[in-house]
Amino acid sequence: MNIDFNKNSDGLVPAIIQDVSTKKVLMLGYMNAEALEKTKETKLVTFYSRTKQRLWTKGEESGNVLNLVDIKLDCDNDSLLISVLPKGPTCHKGTDTCWAEPNEETYGFISHLEDVIKDRRLNSTPSESYVSFLFEKGINKIAQKVGEEAVEVVIEAKDNDADLFLNESADLLFHYLILLQAKGFEIKDVVEILRGREK
Ligand code: AMP
Ligand code: ZN
Ligand code: ZN
Ligand code: ZN
Repeated sequence: MNIDFNKNSDGLVPAIIQDVSTKKVLMLGYMNAEALEKTKETKLVTFYSRTKQRLWTKGEESGNVLNLVDIKLDCDNDSLLISVLPKGPTCHKGTDTCWAEPNEETYGFISHLEDVIKDRRLNSTPSESYVSFLFEKGINKIAQKVGEEAVEVVIEAKDNDADLFLNESADLLFHYLILLQAKGFEIKDVVEILRGREK
């Protein structure tokens, strides 16, 4: 690893700390050559603390250590991306990340859709919003829609029109997210079941 420790005159490079499973950025610290060496040796993330002016193993007092998983160097060798498995909250203020976020996996656009569905459920009227209309009709209607869309996916699966198949798939997934929410669940609850079945 050919790190450019002298780009900054203080001999430090920024180290972005990312949870290996949730992909959340947990904190940012600085490392000198010695801190990086110690990190690799002990498998516990160790920074050079500019405040303390010494090597600082994250969690040395709190016990909230960062277990090293992987270290990557960026394109021009002057910053580190470090994958970790954190023990406890990473921020000394008690939150999971230094940006006061929960260290939870999110599912990109699917999570966004879940938020939109929630917003329509709580803040729209049936005449304004189809989602709101479905919630007003209730679980049976929503479940029925999921059944219909599933049948449409089956029909299109037998055909060879990729566009129709994908559109019915989108309909199914959308209505399924609404059904999950109507039952008080999120896609992450289903992912947890699937993850539990692995291996
Ligand atoms: P710890 O390393 O968790 O034992 O915390 C020891 C001290 O390091 C704290 O009292 C803070 O001053 C500092 N500290 C801990 N975690 C962080 C963090 N995520 N970002 C900045 N400073 C921290
Ligand atoms: Zn760079
Ligand atoms: Zn913090
Ligand atoms: Zn459809």
